[in-house]
Amino acid sequence: MTDNAAMPNPSALLEDLVAANRILAMEGVLDAYGHVSARNPQDPTRFFMSRSLAPEQVTAGDIQEYGHDSEPIGDTRKPYLERFIHGEIYRTRPDVMAIVHSHADSSIPFGISRTPLKPVYHMASFLWSGAPVFDIRRERDDNDLLIRDRALGEALARSLGRCQCVLMRGHGMTVVGENIPEVVFRAVYTEKNAQLQMQAMRLDGPLTYLSDEEGRRATESNRPTIERPWALWKARALRGQ
Ligand code: MN
Repeated sequence: MTDNAAMPNPSALLEDLVAANRILAMEGVLDAYGHVSARNPQDPTRFFMSRSLAPEQVTAGDIQEYGHDSEPIGDTRKPYLERFIHGEIYRTRPDVMAIVHSHADSSIPFGISRTPLKPVYHMASFLWSGAPVFDIRRERDDNDLLIRDRALGEALARSLGRCQCVLMRGHGMTVVGENIPEVVFRAVYTEKNAQLQMQAMRLDGPLTYLSDEEGRRATESNRPTIERPWALWKARALRGQ
């Protein structure tokens, strides 16, 4: 991260962030709601994210820079209400460089039941470290489910812990990654894994999930391949712009 040669230049990062918004809309992970952000590699206390806008409609001009307090810097356009999800996870997880928050359908049942979301196949192997459930009611009785301030963002980050995914009871989920392509990949395959796990639960059990060791190894094996789906998704998402 401190290696300058490895740092993406700012305009390439913003182009990838715009692409990420469109890919996640195209893949059905985000609809009019949800957001994706990227940490500023030049100033790790800051991050980039769109202003309040449906992800499918995001262009480079809509990206705002946010400070350590999750407030937009020198930009009066309306930000996302739940921007504190991003700011507080970046503050507590130095390894995280990109974050997706979504309300995608398939993860919702796992946030309201006692059945944990677990990796059913290698594409979602990163779930080996767990997908804890954040119940906002434990933090605040008079909640409206939304992460609307820093204290709630911090509590969510605490639930995430060292995991890559946190489910949010009655709301959605948040996934993290070391770069934009990785977090997009994880958001897409978290949703697919939830669909597949639900299907498999209708069959004769008990189900066989990836072991922690398989999960760890498959995560490493997938990492160098992510450039392939990313190139495909990006080409599709930016076509006809
Ligand atoms: Mn939300």
